[in-house]
Amino acid sequence: MKNKCLIIMAAACLLLAACNKNKTAADDSAIVNYNEVKTPLFNADSAYHFVKVQCDFGPRVPQSKAAENCAQWLISYLKSKADTVYVQEFTSELWNGEKVKGKNIIASFNIEATDRVLFASHWDSRLWADHDPNPDNHKKPISGANDGASGVGVLLEVARLMKDCNTRQGLDIVLFDLEDQGTPAWEEEKNEEQNDWCLGSQFWAQNLHIPYYRAKYGILLDMVGYKELRFTKEMQSMGYASSIMNNVWNIARDLGYGDIFTDGGYNSVMDDHIWVNHYANIPTIDIVQNSVGTSFFPHWHTTQDDISCIDKHSLEVVGKVILVSFFAAE
Ligand SMILES: [Zn+2]
Repeated sequence: MKNKCLIIMAAACLLLAACNKNKTAADDSAIVNYNEVKTPLFNADSAYHFVKVQCDFGPRVPQSKAAENCAQWLISYLKSKADTVYVQEFTSELWNGEKVKGKNIIASFNIEATDRVLFASHWDSRLWADHDPNPDNHKKPISGANDGASGVGVLLEVARLMKDCNTRQGLDIVLFDLEDQGTPAWEEEKNEEQNDWCLGSQFWAQNLHIPYYRAKYGILLDMVGYKELRFTKEMQSMGYASSIMNNVWNIARDLGYGDIFTDGGYNSVMDDHIWVNHYANIPTIDIVQNSVGTSFFPHWHTTQDDISCIDKHSLEVVGKVILVSFFAAE
């Protein structure tokens, strides 16, 4: 109820602003119209800032000082915006048997609501640049500006906006740890099951932060900040949650992003959404970069995946689409 009032009030403010030629500055609290669905205004500069802050900590690889500092910053920021923040600590095992500790971070908005939506991304970055063109870099960690920080940056901006929205639905933003530490390409012994990836989501989906937690659908963001943004309908998502994926693609098309959310070039990705679908039974899609002729994007798992890969407009496109997907049901 309160949200609807806010929308009406904000719409009235916009109308007044439109009549007042002296009022030109965009107001973060303004409600904008994306083909009828009203959402808070996504700020691309803010999202970009959130990506850069993560990168500035250094590679967020398992049990590093950079990871710990970044985790504390994420928790602190989300606590300032969300109703409740859960930190789920766990121990898992890397491909080589090494035990590592991880932290899943869950920020919940409108905790009373039973009608809930899940947005997720991973906040760790890869320990090895195993696809770097220079073999000397294959055992160096990556910055993960696109592969990790971009999705989190978009979701932190969503969190900032949600603080002032008393919505009917609840929203849970889940930041998974240890997504990107699967067997390196230089290791001869392969793990065909690929269950050494997505360790944080595997843990969360089998140990939900709240017993019997449910969301009606989930959207995972991974590599969503590249300057040449391109998504295809990832096959696992289509298998588990085709109606969600088609709906999100329809929203993108209506917003004028049909050239980014494309229909061609199906791919299949091992990512956190697999485990959310498999263990938690929440229909979840993956919005993940799929450049033509490459693995995801040209700098995937290389030392070049740094802040120079990131385009503010790309973050904004993804932010707008997921906001509309949420607010369309308000
Ligand atoms: Zn990765």
